[in-house]
Amino acid sequence: MRLKDKVAIITGSSTTGIGYAVAKSYVNEGAKVVICGSKEEDTLNAKKRMETECPNADFLAIKVDVTKIEDVENLFKKTYEKWGKIDILVNNAGIAPAKPIENMSDSDFELVMNINAFGTFRCTREAIKYMKENGGSIINTGSIVGIYGSPHQAAYTASKAAINGLTKSNAKELGKYKIRVNTIAPGVVMTDMVKDNCDDTTIQRLNMMTPLGRGATTEDLVGMYIHLASDESVFTTGTIINIDGGLVM
Ligand code: NAD
Repeated sequence: MRLKDKVAIITGSSTTGIGYAVAKSYVNEGAKVVICGSKEEDTLNAKKRMETECPNADFLAIKVDVTKIEDVENLFKKTYEKWGKIDILVNNAGIAPAKPIENMSDSDFELVMNINAFGTFRCTREAIKYMKENGGSIINTGSIVGIYGSPHQAAYTASKAAINGLTKSNAKELGKYKIRVNTIAPGVVMTDMVKDNCDDTTIQRLNMMTPLGRGATTEDLVGMYIHLASDESVFTTGTIINIDGGLVM
């Protein structure tokens, strides 16, 4: 049990994507977890899934829209009230709408930045209050496109580049509190986000460009999320780790 009795919040964990897989893996490693979704219905569904799949899980399911400061404050308050500490924050909530930049409105750009980048900033700022005394691990879900770019994803790539900046600055600033900050940058992970954005031809092309020959499953990622949350990575901070089957290097 690599996360025994640790308390972890995972944003964007109400759907069947990366966040939920990470939440489940943390439960299986002995952590107490908070799963969150921006929609009431998704959050309830995730609660039911967790109760069925991990009957012994010690967990909370809370509706959290990371663009709303009152939701973010409530998330941390409720978690602390239940377990008296917060050790791990996974900033995973994100959206990835694709549009040519010439058709992208200010509000299109703002929405993506508000969820992906500001959401990470807001949750991190709140986490510091609770982690300052005993330290903690903050893991952001970035993307390889935050460094390498991608057509039709100006807002998304900018938001992920912002997360890379937050990772480095926050790691430098928060080390004195023993708060570690790292980012996992996935390549292609076969979740609804990819299925909604990529047709079969694009996926086949990406698979051919990937040395390991395929897109990732969520299960391919969870090991690194566990590692960065656990004391195994006690001296690792400020890193951006690609998990992409070698797609970029
Ligand atoms: P997903 O759509 O299943 O997960 C995104 C999650 O973010 C959902 O649970 C959604 O409810 C949540 N969310 C959206 N808006 C929110 C808001 N305002 N407040 C709180 N939560 C909100 O897709 P996924 O692929 O599991 O994506 C998870 C993360 O992984 C995202 O940050 C995404 O950018 C990143 N990522 C995914 C891929 C990929 O190929 N799937 C690649 C690189 C990075």
